[in-house]
Amino acid sequence: MRALERERGRVVGVRVGEDAELLRADRVVLAAGIWGPVLAADAGVRLPMVDVQHPYVFTTQVSGLDDTPIDIPIVRYPDHAVYTRRHGRRYGLGTYSHAPLSLTPTPALTSAERPFRDADFGAAVAAAGALVPAFRDAPQGRRLNGVFALTPDELPLVGPAAELPGLWFAEASWVTHAGGVGRQLANMLLDTGRHLVPPERLAPGRFAHWSDEKIHQTALGHYQGIYDAH
Ligand SMILES: Cc1cc2nc3c(=O)[nH]c(=O)nc-3n(C[C@H](O)[C@H](O)[C@H](O)COP(=O)(O)OP(=O)(O)OC[C@H]3O[C@@H](n4cnc5c(N)ncnc54)[C@H](O)[C@@H]3O)c2cc1C
Repeated sequence: MRALERERGRVVGVRVGEDAELLRADRVVLAAGIWGPVLAADAGVRLPMVDVQHPYVFTTQVSGLDDTPIDIPIVRYPDHAVYTRRHGRRYGLGTYSHAPLSLTPTPALTSAERPFRDADFGAAVAAAGALVPAFRDAPQGRRLNGVFALTPDELPLVGPAAELPGLWFAEASWVTHAGGVGRQLANMLLDTGRHLVPPERLAPGRFAHWSDEKIHQTALGHYQGIYDAH
């Protein structure tokens, strides 16, 4: 999708492909991850999301492990802001135990994976590796810097844009939220009257009276909060 199409003060579809073909729709749901705010801003709507860069590392392949995708739970070390899980023949871990590092997405950004930042993440990853037994015994493999979105209240943005009819959002959802976000959105679009949570709790416009700066600082503070708890 290249852009949202607007006519007479409402979204009426999307432009797609090289020739910017117009696909018409009465309602358009933007679920474009960290690119959501870029597309929404083009249509004059501010999405209260802040993108953060997050280190995740893998071991190399561990002998004795097979390709079974998941047979053990994700393990979290809340006191250390570290979590770990198995990925087939490798283990992986992520850590929040570093100063938060935001990123402002632009239309030119083509991937949510950025170069790994040793200066920012190296110490945290080393400490996490010393903590998690699988990482003490196996050499470290791939290291990545992934970008995901935070909101000021750590909840996703689900529902219609108050200021632009026809535009809906399913943004800033964690994997953890995904099933609930889908169901909430379906119930709202189909107007079933059944909601998992009151729609205003996830309304994309719930921070309309907040400044950009307050949104940025509060959302980033959740990342930092995990760090401080360390
Ligand atoms: C390293 C790392 C570890 C994480 N660990 C966890 C975890 O343990 N638990 C958890 O719950 N969450 C975790 N997350 C967060 C989670 O991955 C994200 O919050 C989630 O994937 C966001 O889902 P999404 O569907 O909103 O966005 P995405 O998964 O980014 O999907 C958006 C899609 O929209 C597409 N798109 C963008 N722009 C356009 C366009 N213009 N036209 C068409 N398509 C477009 C993109 O290509 C993409 O496929 C982690 C994130 C990272 C980076």
